[in-house]
Amino acid sequence: MQLYELTVQETVQGVRSKKFSASEVFEASMAQAVACESRLSALITLTVEKGREQACAIDAKIARGEDPGPLAGVPVVLKDNICTRGVRTTAASTVLGHWSPPYDATVWGLLQDAGALLLGKGNMDEFAMGNTCGSSSFGYTANPWDLTRVPGGSSGGSAAATAAGYAPFALGTDTGGSIRQPASFCGIHGMKPTYGAVSRYGVIAYGSSLDQVGPFARTIEDLALVMQVLARHDFRDSTSVAGKGLDFSLAPAALKGKRVALVKDFEGFSLAGPIQEAKKRVLAVLKEEGAEIVEVELPTVARYAVACYYAIALSEASTNLGRYDGVRLGYTTGSSTDVREMFEEVRSQGFGFEVKSRIIAGTCLTDSSRSEEYYIAATKVRALIAREFEQAFKKADFILQPVTPELPAKIGDAHEDAIKGYESDLYTLPVNLAGLPGLTFYVGHSENGLPVGLQLLGPRWSDAELLSAGLVLEGYLGKPRIATGGVSE
Ligand code: GLN
Repeated sequence: MQLYELTVQETVQGVRSKKFSASEVFEASMAQAVACESRLSALITLTVEKGREQACAIDAKIARGEDPGPLAGVPVVLKDNICTRGVRTTAASTVLGHWSPPYDATVWGLLQDAGALLLGKGNMDEFAMGNTCGSSSFGYTANPWDLTRVPGGSSGGSAAATAAGYAPFALGTDTGGSIRQPASFCGIHGMKPTYGAVSRYGVIAYGSSLDQVGPFARTIEDLALVMQVLARHDFRDSTSVAGKGLDFSLAPAALKGKRVALVKDFEGFSLAGPIQEAKKRVLAVLKEEGAEIVEVELPTVARYAVACYYAIALSEASTNLGRYDGVRLGYTTGSSTDVREMFEEVRSQGFGFEVKSRIIAGTCLTDSSRSEEYYIAATKVRALIAREFEQAFKKADFILQPVTPELPAKIGDAHEDAIKGYESDLYTLPVNLAGLPGLTFYVGHSENGLPVGLQLLGPRWSDAELLSAGLVLEGYLGKPRIATGGVSE
């Protein structure tokens, strides 16, 4: 076994017990990343120097007999909308130019204090808008299980990097599915925490009332280790919730006697064969484990969540992205003669097509002549959706859902029908509207070699219970493997 193949847990144990050094782990991981990058393009920036320095610092701490932290010597890939002091942070957009943030996002601060090592910054859809990684201004990332297919998005680089063994874990952000969908497409696990569990400070905003940072990993235990570090109150993020003290020690037998629901209103929707098979398999596992399969109704969610989500996400995006004007930071042009012309030039040249379309749509949705009909209406529907989930969780402990209706599309095909692309988020985005936690867990591989995952949802603050349930499922279904697609062709 190579060092880059180790899990978070194995890496920490090995580094702490001096079986190998943090520097050895980092070099092995970096070598794997470099070997795969020409095929996968999962990273926008490789942070060789930064990671090496951090690894040396961990090794020095261990040599001095100090505690190197709960993630000592573990390489990590951060989605490139997470601010890293002194390291270029782009949100995959030209508009940020070569901006290096003067501060760290809270999540990155927490990981550094815990001893993690920065391997690189993951590719993503521009400003996290998309589900293919195709709207990145740095080009596509390939799916490590099939290089002709998308890795999903928007956190596709983080997911592909975790699947291909660049690092045992990565961080992404999930506004409407951007952790859970690429996790499924890349054959790993991914967790979207309860809204307010993890700080958004220093994370480039898309839809502020929906965005949440969370981890990708190849074992459920690793997700729990990382969540234990990340889930804490941050006074710098007013939406971060204090006093929760989430405990991620995982409980065995977490599914025995538990009610797991299927959603009646989604049952007639079309689902690719391998995803149906995965569902059958998981239902059989649940029964064997002694869970009770029940049914819940989410009619408003099934009917209106997609429209409601896009109205809210685009409205918030149009406001959040107003700050990119070429004056305060990032990309700027030299040719304009007055300030208005300059704003126009910067924003026309700096944003890609998808982002511009969404800013324009969001501006229309929130315009005073229409906001009652669209944005305000969407916030009311959102409240109904949250209530519907609350009712459902009186009848069920967890909800089992697909992640997507289909398996990953071919690169290029995914963009042909934009509306179809938006609609394919129907299973992931309701979770964000209601602020719930959601776990994508790996189920298996289909006959054509593509991985399939499913989602388990729980009520707000059931993050640890979800992971415990995920651990039981992983015991039956097996752990994700490292994808060889990056180097084997
Ligand atoms: N695909 C969704 C969107 O484009 C979700 C993206 C995300 O979660 N960042 O809005």
